[in-house]
Amino acid sequence: MSNLSHLSPIRDNLGRPLKDLRVSVMDRCNFRCIYCMPEKKFHSGFNFLKSTERLSFQEIFRVTKLFSDLGVNKVRITGGEPLLRVNLSELIGDLSTLEKIEDIALTTNGVLLKKYSEELKACGLNRITVSLDSIDPEQFTAMTGGRGNLDTVIEGISKALSVGFKKVKINAVIKRGTNDDQVMEMVDYFKGQSVIIRFIEYMDVGNLNQWQLNETVGSHEIIAKLSEQWALKPLDRNYEGETAERFQIADSETEIGLISSVTKPFCGSCTRARLSSDGKLYNCLFASEGRDIRSLIRSGKSDDFIRNEIASIWKDRKDRYSELRYSEKSDKTNEKVEMYYIGG
Ligand code: SAM
Ligand code: SF4
Ligand code: SF4
Repeated sequence: MSNLSHLSPIRDNLGRPLKDLRVSVMDRCNFRCIYCMPEKKFHSGFNFLKSTERLSFQEIFRVTKLFSDLGVNKVRITGGEPLLRVNLSELIGDLSTLEKIEDIALTTNGVLLKKYSEELKACGLNRITVSLDSIDPEQFTAMTGGRGNLDTVIEGISKALSVGFKKVKINAVIKRGTNDDQVMEMVDYFKGQSVIIRFIEYMDVGNLNQWQLNETVGSHEIIAKLSEQWALKPLDRNYEGETAERFQIADSETEIGLISSVTKPFCGSCTRARLSSDGKLYNCLFASEGRDIRSLIRSGKSDDFIRNEIASIWKDRKDRYSELRYSEKSDKTNEKVEMYYIGG
């Protein structure tokens, strides 16, 4: 085997190393969250990818290995809803054999966690993030486009904790006028459990949610609100480039994270590449175009060729959409990629 250590880690045009890979394994979803896959657009006649268009597990494994040669040591499996992908645990098992991959995480809406937590743990999944925007049953169902049942997700989280996943993250997107009442409610509900509650600023990702800045509840507002009731102790970041600002609720195990993608962008430390379910490589959540890696794989290109291609795409990378959101340099003319397709 050739020694590839000279390749890793590669840095982009702004000096950012390639460290994380997010893989969307499934463009379909069993929810229709109002800000992500509104039912009006994602109706029963919507053309999702055909299964042969999605990267196979073998192809995902091969590409991930090439990314790991270039410096990636963390992989996040996402979607759409990743647990809709049949036998997902097998992929996790395969990825966990990759020598340089130190951490495999999953982002899920939690519906299928009760069924799959045990095998995911056994196959080597390290961490789970569950997206949950409300603990009010009716509001939850409304926010998931009429599809979600809160109890099922809560049972899923309990199951994940019970099979040994530590500090499951609960990601809540707070949209003003929709679920801003949930900041206090969710902390009250989960306080004392071994979870991390992360509030994520609602973003202008994709082209379908008619995002307005005044609908984003800034992290500073959330901190102010929580501080009315609880003493918040700031915690250090776990590692350089961690997106969340961390706090501990005093006298409690519960940690709060704030992800301020809109009010305090963190593009300067963004080390994430994203692979869509059909194998397109994107350098940014707000990108318009991706490089078709699947066609390279399926036309028989060698590992060296594909690895060089990935490296040159990363080296050219200048993306910093969130930092430029309000500047004249920001290009708002192009359609952006959708979140359900590229993965969160
Ligand atoms: N279906 C899985 C889930 O919901 O966890 C994985 C994919 S989902 C696209 C990943 C994350 O993106 C979720 O936490 C979701 O809340 C977040 N998301 C989607 N649209 C968003 C938006 N406009 N602003 C902020 N976060 C968003
Ligand atoms: Fe599905 Fe996740 Fe998007 Fe909700 S946020 S529609 S669960 S992909
Ligand atoms: Fe990374 Fe793009 Fe988000 Fe900036 S806007 S943090 S470059 S994904």
